[in-house]
This record gives sequence, structure tokens and C-alpha cells, in this order.
Amino acid sequence: MRLFIVLLMSLFAPGQILAADPALEIFDAHIHYSSDVWDKLPPQRVLELLTEAGVTRALVSATPGEGAERLYRVAPERVVPFLRPYASHKQRYTWSRDAGVMDYLHAQLARIPYRGIGEFHLSGEDARNPVVTDVVRLARERDLALHAHTDVTGIQALLAQAPDIPVIWAHGGFDVLETTLRDLLAKHKHLYIELSFREGLTEAGKLTPVWYQLMTDFPRRFLTGMDTYTPGRWVELPALAAEARGWLQQLPQDVAQAIAYGNAARLFPVTK
Ligand SMILES: [Zn+2]
Repeated sequence: MRLFIVLLMSLFAPGQILAADPALEIFDAHIHYSSDVWDKLPPQRVLELLTEAGVTRALVSATPGEGAERLYRVAPERVVPFLRPYASHKQRYTWSRDAGVMDYLHAQLARIPYRGIGEFHLSGEDARNPVVTDVVRLARERDLALHAHTDVTGIQALLAQAPDIPVIWAHGGFDVLETTLRDLLAKHKHLYIELSFREGLTEAGKLTPVWYQLMTDFPRRFLTGMDTYTPGRWVELPALAAEARGWLQQLPQDVAQAIAYGNAARLFPVTK
């Protein structure tokens, strides 16, 4: 009986049930609502899932773009819509060589108030294609951010063309050296590092000293993301958010809040 009571107490002790503070609000900078989940997850269910995960706002893109539009129309105050420069997964790696992209973007941008272009995949050797230059020019004209899934060569080429535009580097380049991130952050003040799938952040659940230092040195330049690129990631969303809170809360509180929510909210204020 005593053992049972001890077990019961430990079950209800704060900090045992949830390792991380569920109150830490998240603005997820990497959500997809693509056609592969539309049947199972209608917009209202998606919003419930986000709420369950403590994600109060989200940067949303989709293939086709209609997904972000559908979600935006249901919850314009929570959804920051981004437009991919293509409508089909087949164009994921070829869009930057497709002259039809600009017409597509212009037509889609007229539909809802998009806040950025992306997430797009771009390899370093494609980053100086004329279509990319046109996309950067369009972003500048329309006051749009860019969200790029690319390598070091690609991000450098983009930053060279778009030094004055917020450029969000998806996944923080995955496994790019932290010293490279530090150099780029120091040099490019509109570069933001989005952290979904970023390697090496933690060891055994603990934020590494290198990452702690990087985040506290550049507290305004990191964004939290979960990347719901498959239906499975939607199922995992609350667990992924709890995991993110786990390392966020090892940071000073103001830094944690900035990376969880404040930085994205500053970049994308709610528009009336
Ligand atoms: Zn993605």
C-alpha cells in the first residue's frame, strides 16, 4: 500500500508528469499542411493538434499551396502563410530552372496575404539561377521573407542576393558546423536559423555547451520548428513540442521565450 501511495505521489508530482513547462508558448516556424494529410486532418483538427502541442501560431507552407491557404482562411491570426514556388512535389528540385515559376507565384500571391516564399529546396549549384534571382526580387518588392532548405553554398548565394530580406535557414543546415553558423549570423543580420531536425543540439537531452553559447550569443536569431513534412510528424507533434521545450528550458528564460515564440512573432506580427 505504501509503495502504491509513493507511486501515486510521484505520478502527480509536478515535473514528473511533464518534464518541460507546458506554458512555454511556441510559434512553430516550420509547419507543412500538404495534401497527404488533408483527408485525415481537416483544418479544425490541425488547429486542435497545434493547441494540444502548445503551438499558438505557426509558419505554414504546403504542397500544393492550397494547404496553407485553407489553414489560413480558418485561422488567419494563427497561421502565417508561406508559398512554395511550385504546386507539385515533382518540382521540388527543379523549380529553380523553371521559368513558369514567376507566373505561378504572382497568381498565388494574389489569393491571400502571404508573408514569405518557401520552404523551398535549393542546392548550392542552383542558387544563382535566374529564377532564384527573380524570386529574391519579388520577395523584396512584396516584403516577403524566404525560407530555404539548402546547403552552405546555397545559403551564402542567397544571402549575397538578399542581404536586406529575412532569410530563414530551414534545419539550420542540418549538420553544418556551429562555427559556420556563428560566422554567418555575425555577418548577415537578417539570417534566422530554424531548428527542426538540426543535429547536435543536445546530448542525452542536455543542450550542448556549444549550442547554449550560440543561442545566448544570438538570442534573436533562432526559431523553433517541428517540420510536419509527413502525416507521422503530425501525430508526433505534441511529443516533438515537449522535446523542444525540454532543451529550450535549459536556456535563460528570456532567450527560451525568444526562440520559442518571440523571434517569429517579431518577424511576423499579426496583421489586421
Ligand atoms: Zn519542411
